[in-house]
Amino acid sequence: MKNLYVVGASGSIGTQTLDIVRNNPNEFRVVGMSVGHDLDLAKKLILEFKPEIVCFRKKEDIMNLEYNPKCVYGDEGLNEVASYHKYESETFVNALVGIAGLLPTIYAIKAKKEICLANKETLVVAGDLIKALVKENGVDLIPIDSEHSAILQCLQGEVKSDVKRLIITASGGSFRDKTREELIGVTKNDALKHPNWSMGAKITIDSATMMNKGFEVIEAHYLFDMPYEKISTILHKQSIVHSLVEFNDGSIKALIGTSDMHNPISYALRYPSHNNLESSYLDLIGLSLDFKELSFDRYPCLSYAYMAAKKGGVYLAVLNASNEAAVRLFLNDKIEFLDIEKIIYSYISDSKYEKLEYNLDNILTVSRNIMDEIDKIYGGSRWFLH
Ligand code: MG
Repeated sequence: MKNLYVVGASGSIGTQTLDIVRNNPNEFRVVGMSVGHDLDLAKKLILEFKPEIVCFRKKEDIMNLEYNPKCVYGDEGLNEVASYHKYESETFVNALVGIAGLLPTIYAIKAKKEICLANKETLVVAGDLIKALVKENGVDLIPIDSEHSAILQCLQGEVKSDVKRLIITASGGSFRDKTREELIGVTKNDALKHPNWSMGAKITIDSATMMNKGFEVIEAHYLFDMPYEKISTILHKQSIVHSLVEFNDGSIKALIGTSDMHNPISYALRYPSHNNLESSYLDLIGLSLDFKELSFDRYPCLSYAYMAAKKGGVYLAVLNASNEAAVRLFLNDKIEFLDIEKIIYSYISDSKYEKLEYNLDNILTVSRNIMDEIDKIYGGSRWFLH
Protein backbone atom coordinates (compact mmCIF):
# COMPACT_ATOMS: atom_id res chain seq x y z
CA MET A 1 0.00 0.00 0.00
CA LYS A 2 1.39 3.40 -0.99
CA ASN A 3 0.65 6.21 1.44
CA LEU A 4 0.02 9.36 -0.54
CA TYR A 5 -0.06 13.02 0.33
CA VAL A 6 -1.67 14.95 -2.52
CA VAL A 7 -1.33 18.73 -2.38
CA GLY A 8 -3.31 20.65 -4.97
CA ALA A 9 -5.75 17.72 -4.83
CA SER A 10 -8.69 19.56 -6.39
CA GLY A 11 -6.70 20.85 -9.38
CA SER A 12 -6.20 19.15 -12.72
CA ILE A 13 -3.23 16.91 -11.78
CA GLY A 14 -4.63 16.38 -8.28
CA THR A 15 -8.00 15.05 -9.42
CA GLN A 16 -6.35 12.82 -12.02
CA THR A 17 -4.06 11.44 -9.31
CA LEU A 18 -7.15 10.73 -7.21
CA ASP A 19 -8.77 8.93 -10.19
CA ILE A 20 -5.89 6.45 -10.03
CA VAL A 21 -6.28 6.07 -6.26
CA ARG A 22 -10.04 5.60 -6.63
CA ASN A 23 -9.58 2.79 -9.14
CA ASN A 24 -6.84 1.07 -7.15
CA PRO A 25 -7.91 1.09 -3.51
CA ASN A 26 -5.67 -1.88 -2.69
CA GLU A 27 -2.63 -0.11 -4.03
CA PHE A 28 -2.95 3.48 -2.81
CA ARG A 29 -4.46 5.42 0.05
CA VAL A 30 -4.54 9.16 0.69
CA VAL A 31 -3.09 10.16 4.06
CA GLY A 32 -2.91 13.90 3.47
CA MET A 33 -4.49 16.35 1.08
CA SER A 34 -4.74 20.05 0.34
CA VAL A 35 -7.81 21.46 -1.37
CA GLY A 36 -8.56 24.65 -3.30
CA HIS A 37 -11.28 27.25 -3.61
CA ASP A 38 -14.04 24.94 -4.86
CA LEU A 39 -15.40 23.89 -1.47
CA ASP A 40 -18.09 21.55 -2.85
CA LEU A 41 -15.44 19.59 -4.71
CA ALA A 42 -13.15 19.79 -1.66
CA LYS A 43 -15.83 18.28 0.57
CA LYS A 44 -16.57 15.54 -1.93
CA LEU A 45 -12.89 14.57 -2.22
CA ILE A 46 -12.25 14.72 1.53
CA LEU A 47 -15.24 12.50 2.32
CA GLU A 48 -14.37 10.06 -0.43
CA PHE A 49 -10.68 9.61 0.46
CA LYS A 50 -10.86 10.43 4.20
CA PRO A 51 -7.30 11.72 4.64
CA GLU A 52 -5.90 12.01 8.17
CA ILE A 53 -4.77 15.60 7.57
CA VAL A 54 -6.43 18.19 5.31
CA CYS A 55 -5.16 21.64 4.39
CA PHE A 56 -7.69 24.30 3.38
CA ARG A 57 -6.81 27.52 1.61
CA LYS A 58 -7.91 29.70 4.49
CA LYS A 59 -9.21 29.32 8.02
CA GLU A 60 -12.82 30.19 7.05
CA ASP A 61 -12.84 27.28 4.59
CA ILE A 62 -12.47 24.67 7.33
CA MET A 63 -15.74 22.72 7.29
CA ASN A 64 -17.68 20.26 9.39
CA LEU A 65 -17.03 16.77 8.17
CA GLU A 66 -18.49 13.38 9.02
CA TYR A 67 -15.20 12.35 10.59
CA ASN A 68 -12.43 14.22 12.38
CA PRO A 69 -9.31 14.73 10.29
CA LYS A 70 -6.64 17.14 11.42
CA CYS A 71 -7.57 20.41 9.66
CA VAL A 72 -4.92 23.01 8.87
CA TYR A 73 -4.89 25.99 6.50
CA GLY A 74 -2.82 28.33 4.35
CA ASP A 75 0.87 28.12 3.51
CA GLU A 76 1.71 26.96 7.03
CA GLY A 77 -0.88 24.23 6.69
CA LEU A 78 0.71 23.02 3.44
CA ASN A 79 4.01 22.72 5.26
CA GLU A 80 2.27 20.74 8.01
CA VAL A 81 0.85 18.30 5.48
CA ALA A 82 4.31 17.95 3.93
CA SER A 83 5.91 17.35 7.35
CA TYR A 84 3.19 14.97 8.66
CA HIS A 85 4.73 11.60 9.16
CA LYS A 86 3.01 8.40 10.12
CA TYR A 87 4.05 5.54 7.88
CA GLU A 88 7.39 4.09 7.00
CA SER A 89 7.10 4.76 3.30
CA GLU A 90 5.28 7.87 2.12
CA THR A 91 4.88 9.61 -1.24
CA PHE A 92 4.24 13.31 -1.67
CA VAL A 93 2.45 14.32 -4.86
CA ASN A 94 3.00 18.03 -5.39
CA ALA A 95 0.32 19.31 -7.77
CA LEU A 96 0.37 22.89 -6.50
CA VAL A 97 0.71 25.78 -8.93
CA GLY A 98 3.42 28.43 -8.65
CA ILE A 99 6.12 29.10 -6.11
CA ALA A 100 3.58 28.13 -3.42
CA GLY A 101 4.81 24.60 -4.15
CA LEU A 102 8.43 25.23 -3.16
CA LEU A 103 8.38 25.11 0.65
CA PRO A 104 6.01 22.10 0.83
CA THR A 105 8.46 20.18 -1.40
CA ILE A 106 11.32 21.09 0.92
CA TYR A 107 9.38 20.01 4.03
CA ALA A 108 8.33 16.75 2.34
CA ILE A 109 11.93 15.93 1.39
CA LYS A 110 13.04 16.61 4.97
CA ALA A 111 10.26 14.26 6.16
CA LYS A 112 11.87 11.61 3.89
CA LYS A 113 8.89 11.36 1.56
CA GLU A 114 9.36 10.20 -2.01
CA ILE A 115 8.51 13.19 -4.22
CA CYS A 116 6.28 12.95 -7.31
CA LEU A 117 6.60 16.42 -8.73
CA ALA A 118 4.10 18.19 -10.95
CA ASN A 119 4.90 21.63 -9.53
CA LYS A 120 7.40 23.02 -12.03
CA GLU A 121 8.30 26.13 -10.10
CA THR A 122 10.01 24.10 -7.35
CA LEU A 123 12.85 23.06 -9.66
CA VAL A 124 12.80 26.24 -11.73
CA VAL A 125 13.48 28.59 -8.83
CA ALA A 126 15.48 26.30 -6.52
CA GLY A 127 16.80 23.41 -8.60
CA ASP A 128 20.27 23.30 -7.04
CA LEU A 129 18.91 23.52 -3.50
CA ILE A 130 16.34 20.80 -4.13
CA LYS A 131 18.90 18.48 -5.70
CA ALA A 132 21.20 18.88 -2.71
CA LEU A 133 18.33 18.23 -0.28
CA VAL A 134 17.17 15.16 -2.19
CA LYS A 135 20.68 13.74 -2.03
CA GLU A 136 21.15 14.60 1.62
CA ASN A 137 17.86 12.93 2.61
CA GLY A 138 18.16 9.96 0.28
CA VAL A 139 14.70 10.36 -1.29
CA ASP A 140 13.58 9.88 -4.89
CA LEU A 141 12.31 12.77 -7.00
CA ILE A 142 10.16 11.60 -9.88
CA PRO A 143 8.67 13.96 -12.45
CA ILE A 144 4.98 13.89 -13.34
CA ASP A 145 5.18 16.31 -16.26
CA SER A 146 4.59 14.33 -19.48
CA GLU A 147 7.82 15.50 -21.15
CA HIS A 148 10.06 14.63 -18.22
CA SER A 149 8.26 11.37 -17.66
CA ALA A 150 8.97 10.54 -21.32
CA ILE A 151 12.66 11.41 -20.99
CA LEU A 152 12.93 9.42 -17.76
CA GLN A 153 11.43 6.42 -19.59
CA CYS A 154 13.74 6.85 -22.61
CA LEU A 155 16.76 6.98 -20.31
CA GLN A 156 16.00 3.68 -18.55
CA GLY A 157 19.03 1.42 -18.88
CA GLU A 158 21.06 4.04 -20.73
CA VAL A 159 24.41 5.61 -19.87
CA LYS A 160 24.35 9.39 -19.49
CA SER A 161 27.57 9.96 -21.43
CA ASP A 162 25.94 8.33 -24.48
CA VAL A 163 23.25 11.03 -24.61
CA LYS A 164 23.76 13.67 -27.28
CA ARG A 165 20.71 15.72 -26.37
CA LEU A 166 17.27 15.72 -24.84
CA ILE A 167 14.51 16.94 -27.15
CA ILE A 168 11.44 18.32 -25.42
CA THR A 169 8.31 18.49 -27.55
CA ALA A 170 5.87 21.40 -27.46
CA SER A 171 2.33 21.40 -28.81
CA GLY A 172 2.54 25.14 -29.44
CA GLY A 173 -0.21 26.17 -27.04
CA SER A 174 -3.56 27.73 -27.78
CA PHE A 175 -2.17 30.44 -30.12
CA ARG A 176 0.13 28.24 -32.17
CA ASP A 177 -1.59 29.09 -35.46
CA LYS A 178 -1.46 32.84 -34.86
CA THR A 179 1.31 35.17 -35.99
CA ARG A 180 2.75 37.67 -33.50
CA GLU A 181 0.62 40.41 -35.06
CA GLU A 182 -2.47 38.30 -34.48
CA LEU A 183 -1.67 38.04 -30.78
CA ILE A 184 -2.57 41.69 -30.23
CA GLY A 185 -5.78 41.86 -28.24
CA VAL A 186 -6.27 38.10 -27.73
CA THR A 187 -8.39 37.35 -24.67
CA LYS A 188 -8.14 35.16 -21.63
CA ASN A 189 -10.89 32.92 -22.97
CA ASP A 190 -9.05 32.42 -26.28
CA ALA A 191 -5.88 31.56 -24.36
CA LEU A 192 -7.58 29.03 -22.12
CA LYS A 193 -8.61 26.82 -25.02
CA HIS A 194 -5.64 24.46 -25.27
CA PRO A 195 -5.84 22.27 -28.39
CA ASN A 196 -4.51 19.01 -26.88
CA TRP A 197 -4.19 18.99 -23.13
CA SER A 198 -6.72 19.75 -20.45
CA MET A 199 -4.85 21.67 -17.77
CA GLY A 200 -5.22 24.38 -15.14
CA ALA A 201 -5.46 28.07 -16.08
CA LYS A 202 -1.93 29.12 -15.15
CA ILE A 203 -0.16 26.37 -17.07
CA THR A 204 -2.44 26.88 -20.08
CA ILE A 205 -1.33 30.51 -20.29
CA ASP A 206 2.29 29.43 -19.75
CA SER A 207 1.82 27.05 -22.70
CA ALA A 208 0.47 29.85 -24.88
CA THR A 209 3.47 32.08 -24.11
CA MET A 210 5.82 29.04 -24.25
CA MET A 211 7.19 29.93 -20.81
CA ASN A 212 5.96 26.48 -19.87
CA LYS A 213 8.49 24.97 -22.29
CA GLY A 214 11.18 27.26 -20.92
CA PHE A 215 10.40 25.98 -17.42
CA GLU A 216 10.54 22.42 -18.72
CA VAL A 217 14.02 23.00 -20.16
CA ILE A 218 15.17 24.25 -16.75
CA GLU A 219 13.51 21.30 -14.98
CA ALA A 220 15.16 18.85 -17.40
CA HIS A 221 18.53 20.43 -16.67
CA TYR A 222 18.12 19.63 -12.97
CA LEU A 223 16.26 16.33 -13.21
CA PHE A 224 18.63 14.70 -15.68
CA ASP A 225 21.82 16.58 -14.86
CA MET A 226 22.18 17.81 -18.44
CA PRO A 227 23.88 21.04 -19.54
CA TYR A 228 21.56 23.50 -21.29
CA GLU A 229 23.46 23.06 -24.59
CA LYS A 230 22.21 19.48 -24.62
CA ILE A 231 18.53 20.35 -24.14
CA SER A 232 16.50 21.43 -27.14
CA THR A 233 12.84 21.94 -27.92
CA ILE A 234 10.77 21.12 -30.98
CA LEU A 235 7.25 21.96 -32.11
CA HIS A 236 5.09 18.86 -32.40
CA LYS A 237 1.44 19.71 -32.80
CA GLN A 238 -0.08 16.29 -32.20
CA SER A 239 1.21 15.81 -28.62
CA ILE A 240 1.72 12.12 -29.40
CA VAL A 241 5.51 12.12 -29.02
CA HIS A 242 5.95 13.23 -25.43
CA SER A 243 9.70 13.87 -25.75
CA LEU A 244 12.83 12.25 -27.20
CA VAL A 245 16.41 11.38 -26.35
CA GLU A 246 19.07 11.44 -29.05
CA PHE A 247 22.21 9.34 -28.52
CA ASN A 248 25.76 9.78 -29.84
CA ASP A 249 25.23 7.08 -32.48
CA GLY A 250 22.29 8.96 -33.99
CA SER A 251 19.64 6.68 -32.50
CA ILE A 252 16.64 8.48 -31.11
CA LYS A 253 14.33 7.04 -28.47
CA ALA A 254 10.90 8.59 -28.11
CA LEU A 255 8.00 7.96 -25.82
CA ILE A 256 4.74 8.02 -27.71
CA GLY A 257 1.19 7.62 -26.51
CA THR A 258 -2.12 9.42 -26.11
CA SER A 259 -2.13 12.81 -24.44
CA ASP A 260 -3.63 11.60 -21.18
CA MET A 261 -1.99 12.86 -17.98
CA HIS A 262 -3.12 9.74 -16.11
CA ASN A 263 -0.22 7.94 -17.81
CA PRO A 264 2.70 10.04 -16.53
CA ILE A 265 1.00 10.36 -13.13
CA SER A 266 0.68 6.59 -12.92
CA TYR A 267 4.29 6.10 -14.04
CA ALA A 268 5.48 8.43 -11.27
CA LEU A 269 3.34 6.71 -8.63
CA ARG A 270 4.33 3.22 -9.78
CA TYR A 271 7.84 4.00 -11.03
CA PRO A 272 9.30 2.15 -12.90
CA SER A 273 6.24 0.04 -13.71
CA HIS A 274 3.97 0.58 -16.73
CA ASN A 275 0.86 -0.68 -15.10
CA ASN A 276 -1.78 1.95 -15.69
CA LEU A 277 -4.72 -0.14 -16.77
CA GLU A 278 -7.11 2.81 -17.04
CA SER A 279 -5.22 4.41 -19.88
CA SER A 280 -6.42 4.93 -23.40
CA TYR A 281 -4.54 3.20 -26.21
CA LEU A 282 -3.03 4.87 -29.21
CA ASP A 283 -4.15 3.74 -32.65
CA LEU A 284 -1.02 3.69 -34.80
CA ILE A 285 -2.89 3.07 -38.05
CA GLY A 286 -3.09 6.24 -40.10
CA LEU A 287 -1.04 8.16 -37.56
CA SER A 288 1.21 10.87 -38.95
CA LEU A 289 3.56 12.95 -36.89
CA ASP A 290 5.22 16.21 -37.77
CA PHE A 291 7.93 18.30 -36.19
CA LYS A 292 8.90 21.91 -36.75
CA GLU A 293 11.41 24.33 -35.34
CA LEU A 294 10.24 26.15 -32.24
CA SER A 295 11.10 29.76 -32.95
CA PHE A 296 12.51 32.10 -30.30
CA ASP A 297 11.21 35.05 -32.36
CA ARG A 298 7.68 33.75 -32.24
CA TYR A 299 7.97 32.72 -28.59
CA PRO A 300 10.35 35.17 -26.83
CA CYS A 301 9.46 33.74 -23.40
CA LEU A 302 11.33 30.55 -24.35
CA SER A 303 14.49 32.57 -25.00
CA TYR A 304 13.95 34.47 -21.73
CA ALA A 305 14.01 31.16 -19.88
CA TYR A 306 17.36 30.25 -21.46
CA MET A 307 18.58 33.78 -20.73
CA ALA A 308 17.65 33.53 -17.02
CA ALA A 309 19.15 30.03 -16.85
CA LYS A 310 22.41 31.33 -18.29
CA LYS A 311 22.51 34.15 -15.74
CA GLY A 312 21.73 31.57 -13.06
CA GLY A 313 21.44 32.25 -9.33
CA VAL A 314 18.32 34.11 -8.28
CA TYR A 315 17.53 35.04 -11.92
CA LEU A 316 15.49 31.86 -12.16
CA ALA A 317 13.39 33.11 -9.24
CA VAL A 318 13.16 36.50 -10.98
CA LEU A 319 11.97 34.75 -14.14
CA ASN A 320 9.36 32.77 -12.28
CA ALA A 321 8.07 35.59 -10.09
CA SER A 322 7.67 38.05 -12.96
CA ASN A 323 5.91 35.38 -15.00
CA GLU A 324 3.66 34.29 -12.14
CA ALA A 325 2.56 37.84 -11.37
CA ALA A 326 2.09 38.74 -15.05
CA VAL A 327 0.02 35.64 -15.81
CA ARG A 328 -2.17 36.36 -12.80
CA LEU A 329 -2.73 39.92 -14.05
CA PHE A 330 -3.66 38.63 -17.49
CA LEU A 331 -6.11 36.15 -15.96
CA ASN A 332 -7.58 39.03 -13.95
CA ASP A 333 -8.00 41.10 -17.16
CA LYS A 334 -5.50 43.71 -15.96
CA ILE A 335 -2.99 43.44 -18.82
CA GLU A 336 -2.80 42.32 -22.45
CA PHE A 337 -1.39 38.93 -23.44
CA LEU A 338 1.71 40.48 -25.02
CA ASP A 339 2.38 42.49 -21.84
CA ILE A 340 3.30 39.23 -20.08
CA GLU A 341 6.55 38.87 -22.02
CA LYS A 342 7.34 42.59 -21.71
CA ILE A 343 7.03 42.47 -17.93
CA ILE A 344 9.21 39.34 -17.70
CA TYR A 345 11.90 40.85 -19.92
CA SER A 346 12.05 44.04 -17.88
CA TYR A 347 12.88 42.00 -14.77
CA ILE A 348 15.30 39.42 -16.13
CA SER A 349 17.29 42.08 -18.00
CA ASP A 350 17.71 44.13 -14.80
CA SER A 351 21.26 43.71 -13.52
CA LYS A 352 20.37 44.59 -9.93
CA TYR A 353 19.76 40.94 -9.01
CA GLU A 354 23.28 39.89 -9.99
CA LYS A 355 24.72 40.66 -6.58
CA LEU A 356 22.18 38.57 -4.69
CA GLU A 357 23.49 35.34 -3.28
CA TYR A 358 21.65 32.16 -4.26
CA ASN A 359 19.93 30.86 -1.13
CA LEU A 360 16.40 30.03 -0.03
CA ASP A 361 15.81 33.30 1.83
CA ASN A 362 16.80 35.38 -1.18
CA ILE A 363 14.77 33.21 -3.56
CA LEU A 364 11.64 33.71 -1.44
CA THR A 365 12.23 37.41 -0.72
CA VAL A 366 13.00 38.30 -4.32
CA SER A 367 9.94 36.37 -5.49
CA ARG A 368 7.64 38.05 -3.01
CA ASN A 369 9.03 41.53 -3.72
CA ILE A 370 8.72 41.18 -7.50
CA MET A 371 5.17 39.83 -7.30
CA ASP A 372 4.12 42.61 -4.91
CA GLU A 373 5.78 45.23 -7.09
CA ILE A 374 4.10 44.02 -10.28
CA ASP A 375 0.75 43.79 -8.50
CA LYS A 376 1.18 47.34 -7.25
CA ILE A 377 2.13 48.78 -10.63
CA TYR A 378 -0.73 47.13 -12.50
CA GLY A 379 -3.34 47.15 -9.74
CA GLY A 380 -3.64 43.40 -9.54
CA SER A 381 -5.21 41.54 -6.69
CA ARG A 382 -3.91 38.41 -5.03
CA TRP A 383 -4.97 35.37 -6.90
CA PHE A 384 -4.90 32.10 -5.10
CA LEU A 385 -3.03 29.64 -7.19
CA HIS A 386 -4.38 26.34 -6.00
MG1 MG B 1 4.49 19.44 -19.93
